[in-house]
Amino acid sequence: MKEQKLKCPICKKASTWSENPFRPFCSDRCRILDLGKWATEEYRIAGEKKDIPDETPVRENDNEG
Ligand SMILES: [Zn+2]
Repeated sequence: MKEQKLKCPICKKASTWSENPFRPFCSDRCRILDLGKWATEEYRIAGEKKDIPDETPVRENDNEG
């Protein structure tokens, strides 16, 4: 039987694809490391968030009769 092999994007260790719940990572550790990487990036972006003033749309007066 042929086994599909893949390289872990974090540690570049070769791991097997089958029966690997952490793919494309080799282990849970590498998966968390990758998540942490993204979380750091998101945190940086969130820090630049600015407050947008809430503008109320101007409506024309209806003719009341
Ligand atoms: Zn790994």
